[in-house]
Amino acid sequence: MPRLGGIEAGGTKFVCAAGRGPEDAEFTEFPTGAPEETIAQAVEFFRGREPVEAVGIASFGPIDRRPESPTYGYITSTPKSRWRNTDLAGTVCRALGVRVAFDTDVNAAAVAEWRWGSARGLHSFVYVTIGTGIGGGAVIDGRLLHGRMHSEMGHIRIPRDRVRDPFPGNCPYHGDCLEGVASAPAIEARWGKPAHLIPDGHAAWALEADYLALGIVSWACTLSLERVVLGGGVMQRGELFPKIRERVAQLLNGYLEPPDIVAAELGRRAGVLGAIALAADRLRTFGLAPHGSELGQLGSDEPASAASPEFK
Ligand SMILES: [Zn+2]
Repeated sequence: MPRLGGIEAGGTKFVCAAGRGPEDAEFTEFPTGAPEETIAQAVEFFRGREPVEAVGIASFGPIDRRPESPTYGYITSTPKSRWRNTDLAGTVCRALGVRVAFDTDVNAAAVAEWRWGSARGLHSFVYVTIGTGIGGGAVIDGRLLHGRMHSEMGHIRIPRDRVRDPFPGNCPYHGDCLEGVASAPAIEARWGKPAHLIPDGHAAWALEADYLALGIVSWACTLSLERVVLGGGVMQRGELFPKIRERVAQLLNGYLEPPDIVAAELGRRAGVLGAIALAADRLRTFGLAPHGSELGQLGSDEPASAASPEFK
């Protein structure tokens, strides 16, 4: 495997890595400032060391990753106004002169769990992170799922019992979508204290498990999943796992075999490691990887002929 670069572009921090995977990668991180300076800082990280053959970028979104689009590689309609319509991937590509892969932070984390973590060897799974937001990436039939843009699994609607939980939800777009009732900010707004200060056994956790189980059942019925990998700060609460598994089995009621429900393995490095894995696949797509990709068919949905010129 060639030496590769990864950039995880987050709303509060950027993480950069150079290497081949978790074993040898060197990391750095710095706060997210204005786009120009922040991207320049990432470029400097790579210029200051042994060259990489491709760079993967795992970005907060929404992003444009339609190869035929004039704004391919851009962060688009983000609420972070300074970053709206920023040509992130193109800028990195021109500055370093290497091929660039571009996807969402959650899709990249899914790929990292697939390559090195809790989803190794699987054909169909979702990785979902439950933290400041809820986001998911799906690998179906051995390919990362994109559809028109990318999944927004946290914004599905779920049934609500407003007597049990009168909290109206805090998603700025939908109120009580799954993210609006089950993300860390939603837990804090409902119970008046941050999730990590709520004790084990509190009613908060039974409610949280029920909401996440409803999400999992929808994803499992739609996508026919072997496994659901759960990460993010909220999932540090171990008691959620048995509660979620029990509730998912109840809700499916014997109609489908429940997917395995497991913890993510790669923790806070999943996004940037996923960016490295995306970079590896980018080389494979163009037939340049010396020993072929270890990622199966990932990314083969993107024919070389359709890629925009600056990404060659
Ligand atoms: Zn929402």
